[in-house]
Amino acid sequence: MTINNDIITEYQALVAQIHQYDYHYYVLDDPIISDEDYDAVIQRILQLEKADPAIQAADSPTQRVGGGLASQFEAIAHAIPMLSLDNVFTPQALTEFNQRVLSRLEWSSPDSPQNITYAAEPKIDGLAIALRYENGQLVQALTRGDGRVGENVLENVKTIRAIPLKLRAPYPQLIEVRGEVFMPKSGFNALNEAQQAAGEKPFANPRNAAAGSLRQLNAAITAKRPLAFYAYGVGEKSSDVVLPSYDATIDRLNTLGLPTCPLFEVCRGVDALIDYHRRLLNVRQSLDYDIDGVVFKVNETALQQQLGFVSRAPRWAIAYKFPAEEKTTTVQAIDIQV
Ligand code: NAD
Repeated sequence: MTINNDIITEYQALVAQIHQYDYHYYVLDDPIISDEDYDAVIQRILQLEKADPAIQAADSPTQRVGGGLASQFEAIAHAIPMLSLDNVFTPQALTEFNQRVLSRLEWSSPDSPQNITYAAEPKIDGLAIALRYENGQLVQALTRGDGRVGENVLENVKTIRAIPLKLRAPYPQLIEVRGEVFMPKSGFNALNEAQQAAGEKPFANPRNAAAGSLRQLNAAITAKRPLAFYAYGVGEKSSDVVLPSYDATIDRLNTLGLPTCPLFEVCRGVDALIDYHRRLLNVRQSLDYDIDGVVFKVNETALQQQLGFVSRAPRWAIAYKFPAEEKTTTVQAIDIQV
């Protein structure tokens, strides 16, 4: 079947646009489009690829993780790739995700447990980091980069108070802790006021400020930035680390002295996931950090392993994104001369 030329032209233009947006967002830490508009372009690309898989370009954003690397840091390969997350935006799409999980696990027979257990957490809008601890000591900190290779920002990460330089004993021989570095809203507002007072350009949002702060060449500047951290996973590990489930992982991270998000819950069945999403949406504004949705992960490690990965994301996790936040409009007072 031949694909309509207009569709090909539209598709190629959208892919090229995304490359441009990614460069500004991931490399320059200076986005030129809102996340919601970016997500809408990605959804259109996915729609066109679904309608006709032959259209898919080798450099399609749906096939890869993140963006480029800034050249000023040492590039190091991840022992285990750092992937992204697939997104859903509606309860129906979440239900379909759950159905795909159940059918892949062949949990469709009448005697199978129908309600799978998921770990639920907010999706914090920061940037992913992989912290490598050898014999309890922090020895490397890699950004996600393109998922295969990250940038070593260890000296900058060492300035973040929430990240222990040494784990609490008893610690394993090797553990790579993954999590999100972010800037709390309160710190972000104070930083932007200081930027403006100093005649510097303000940051677009806390995510952008966190990314820019972590990738400073001078660690003394990073040290002055109010960065925080929550751990949400484990990458490479020695055989003395046994993690049968995600909630066991969270417990282990906590005993090692690593902070995790207090809003973490274990939910059973898709209705509980929809309810968690609704509750988090209600408290979103009151949290001191930006969240752009919630993340659900199949809780049992053995089931995660059965489900595996696709090219850019695990099959056992999904981000259920929030609708765009209402923008506040500043109405300027105008003096009217009569
Ligand atoms: P993503 O940010 O949507 O999702 C994956 C990331 O979620 C992980 O890498 C991790 O950093 C983070 N995360 C937060 N909480 C987590 C948790 N509890 N468990 C696991 N991961 C968690 O994916 P992405 O591929 O980095 O970026 C895509 C998104 O970034 C887009 O949907 C868009 O909103 C935004 N983006 C915007 C622009 C722009 O120009 N505005 C450009 C590129 C990307």
